[in-house]
Amino acid sequence: MALCELEGITKTYGEGPTRVDALKDVDLRVEAGEFTVLSGPSGSGKTTLLNQIGCLDRPTSGTLRIDGVDTSQLGNLALSKLRADKIGFIFQSFNLVPVLTALENVELALQLAGQSAHIRERARAMFPQVGLEGLQARRPNQLSGGQQQRVAIARALVKEPAVVIADEPTANLDSENGEQILSLMQELNARLGTTFLISTHDPRVMAHARRRIEMEDGRIVKDTLSQSPAP
Ligand code: ADP
Ligand code: MG
Repeated sequence: MALCELEGITKTYGEGPTRVDALKDVDLRVEAGEFTVLSGPSGSGKTTLLNQIGCLDRPTSGTLRIDGVDTSQLGNLALSKLRADKIGFIFQSFNLVPVLTALENVELALQLAGQSAHIRERARAMFPQVGLEGLQARRPNQLSGGQQQRVAIARALVKEPAVVIADEPTANLDSENGEQILSLMQELNARLGTTFLISTHDPRVMAHARRRIEMEDGRIVKDTLSQSPAP
């Protein structure tokens, strides 16, 4: 059983003259432990696809199974619970809560997932894993972009999600910080076995992927496995 299974997924926004077919009959299987990069021109449907897999939105038609569960059978509450339990998100603009410290931002992910045991210890334990030892008490505006994205990675991983979805995670970083963030995600994938699905425009990011999926105009047009991604 694949971790994420999409069959005939379509997503249509608007209607009449403003109708956009953002996803057209997409089939995709993502297996547990994969490190996959999704590329394609702006407007090709990358964000829309990630939002369906992340259960932030519902497809117009088709079947989406996460860990064997057909999401169309879930009500909104159950879908939110599945999202909180199984999916970690990393965004282009980091999306940390500005009034909370780095540690509190990571704790919040556990609280939102309804977890209450050993929250502080679990959140603390993430900081050395993402190279941020000693910076737990900083607020987001006291951290660099690269450091903020590391907090976001800690926040995504602390609840041990089945899959981490990262939509253009290096787009707001300079190339050196972007490289470091990618290497960190790759290392966490290798060390913890966390499944990563990452969208990007950046050719350097693509070099990190074992599996590369290319989108064009709402469809997957290429899906390749490389034997030796860059370290
Ligand atoms: P990408 O992430 O590859 O740039 P998107 O998934 O954001 O592509 O967009 C795919 C298409 O869907 C584009 O034509 C975009 O304008 C359209 N689109 C995305 N979100 C919406 C929305 N909420 N309402 C209407 N159209 C949208
Ligand atoms: Mg996008």
